[in-house]
This record gives sequence, structure tokens and C-alpha cells, in this order.
Amino acid sequence: MSAGGRSVKRREAKKEAVQTAATLIEMAVATAPSDMDLAKAQASLARRIMLKFNVRYDWSLRRFFCHGCKGLLYPGINARVRLGPGRFLLVTCGECGRVNRKKITKHA
Ligand SMILES: [Zn+2]
Repeated sequence: MSAGGRSVKRREAKKEAVQTAATLIEMAVATAPSDMDLAKAQASLARRIMLKFNVRYDWSLRRFFCHGCKGLLYPGINARVRLGPGRFLLVTCGECGRVNRKKITKHA
């Protein structure tokens, strides 16, 4: 698919990895309502890619992950969302029970 592999620099590879991870997370979020196991697999693959390339989560991607078990958080399926004090959402992970505080920002 990609031509001229030898000339592809690591930076390019990283950019591609970020794209792949973002796509995987989008897929995971879309898959979650029908198949949570598959969604988790997609999300953990995305996470592995990002760790390998030392990529930080985008704000938009990070809100789908639990800080405790690093798993996919999906409100209504394996997570509960409450409004906390101040501008916070309290997202309780159904997998490990961790309460993730998510700041409500314009980026969300
Ligand atoms: Zn968790």
C-alpha cells in the first residue's frame, strides 16, 4: 500500500500510527454498543500503538479511557456518568470501579 518504504521517516510512521490509533478508537466507540469485547480489543490495540510510538492521547481520545484499568470507557455500557462539583464529569468505570474525573472543556 505505501510506496517507498525505505524513505519513510519515523516521523511519518508516527503520524500514520496516530491516524491508525484514532481510527481504531473511533471504531471501538462505534462497536461498543453491539460488541463490547471487540471494542475493548480495538481500544487496547490503539493504546499499544500509541505507547509504542510514544504518542500522547488527544483530549478527544483520552476521554474514552479509564485511568485505572486503561480500558475503554463507554457510558451506558461499562461506565456511569454523573455531574460532579464544579466543571467535572465523574465517570465511574464498570470494570475496575475507578472514578475518573473529566474536566468539561470546550474541547469536549
Ligand atoms: Zn477502569
